[in-house]
Amino acid sequence: MRNVIIIGSGCAGNTAAIYAARANLKPLVIVGHEPGGQLSMTTEVENFPGFPDGIMGPQLVENMKQQAIKFGAEYIFGKVEVADLGKRPFRLKIDDEWHECSTLIIASGASARWLGLPNEQKLIGHGVSSCATCDGFFYRGKKIMVIGGGDSAMEEANFLTRFGEEVTLVHRRDEFRASKIMIDRCKANPKIKFLTNTVVDDILDVEKGFVSAARLRNVKTGETWTQEVDGFFLAIGHIPNTKPFVGQLDLDPDGYIISHGGARTNIPGVFHAGDVEDRTYRQAITASGAGCKAAIEAERFLEAEGH
Ligand code: NAP
Repeated sequence: MRNVIIIGSGCAGNTAAIYAARANLKPLVIVGHEPGGQLSMTTEVENFPGFPDGIMGPQLVENMKQQAIKFGAEYIFGKVEVADLGKRPFRLKIDDEWHECSTLIIASGASARWLGLPNEQKLIGHGVSSCATCDGFFYRGKKIMVIGGGDSAMEEANFLTRFGEEVTLVHRRDEFRASKIMIDRCKANPKIKFLTNTVVDDILDVEKGFVSAARLRNVKTGETWTQEVDGFFLAIGHIPNTKPFVGQLDLDPDGYIISHGGARTNIPGVFHAGDVEDRTYRQAITASGAGCKAAIEAERFLEAEGH
C-alpha cells in the first residue's frame, strides 16, 4: 500500500515524483508506454529555464527521474490496464499485478496522433515533429510542411512562418475544422501555401537520416508527386491517455480530465498533472509545474487525514 502512485514518467510525473519523494511519501512511479513522455521523442530543448545552452529532451527527463530517485522515488515499468477508483485505497492493475495507494497522481499525458506512415516514427526528431513551439526554431530559412486542418494546424503554420522560408499546409479535405479567424490569418499570410484534398503517402529520407521530401497524393484526382521539405510538422490532434479511467473520472468529450480546481479531479485523492488535463499549453515547463502542484495537493490531502 503506497501513500502515492504517480502514473506517467514525463515532465509532470517526474516533477510530481521529486516533490512527493522530498515530502517523504516514497512515491511509486509507473513509467508507462512512452517512457519519459513526449520529451523523450524530441531532440534539443531550448526553452526550459535553467539551460542557457539548451539540453537534449531525453537527457532532461532522465535528469528529473534521477533527481526523484535520489530522494526515494521508485520506478516500475508497466502499463495501467485497469483502475479501480470506486473506493480507497485506489487499486491499479499493472501487468497482472494489483497495486494499492492512498492517493493517485495521473500524469499519463496525451500522445500526439501520428499518420502511421512507414518512415514517420524513424524520422521523429530528425525533421518530423509534433510540436512547432519546441522545434520550429530549427527550421530557420527552411521549407516547412504542416499537416492538419484544425486550429492547431493553423496556429502552428502561422507560428512557423517566423522561421521557415515557406510553409505548406496540407489537409485531407477542402473544408477546415479550424475557426474562421485562424483560417483567415493563415490565408492572409503570404508565406503559407494551402494544399487541400491532399494526403501524405510517405516521408523521405530514412537512408539520409533526415527529412528531405514528402510524397503527396491528391485524393480527388489521384495525382501523386514529391515535394521537397525540411521540417514536417504533424498537427492532427492528441489522444489523452485516460482509457482506464473512463466512467470513473470526469472527462471531456475528447477524453481529457476535467479539472475540479488546482490539481483536483472529481474524486478526492485523485489528482491530475500535465497534458492529460491541459490541452492548451502542453509545454515541458507547464507540465512540470502541474506535477509540482499535484504532489503538494497529495501531500496536503494525506496530512489532513493524519498520515
Ligand atoms: P482537431 O480540431 O481535432 O483537428 C485535427 C485535424 O487533423 C483535423 O483537420 C483532421 O482532419 C486532421 N486529421 C486527423 N487525423 C488525420 C489523419 N489521420 N490524416 C490527416 N489528417 C488528420 O485538433 P487540434 O487542431 O489539435 O485542436 C484540438 C482542440 O484544441 C480544438 O478544440 C481546437 O479548437 C483547440 N485549439 C484551439 C486553438 C486556439 O484557439 N488558439 C489552438 C489550437 C487548438 P478532418 O478535419 O478531416 O477530420
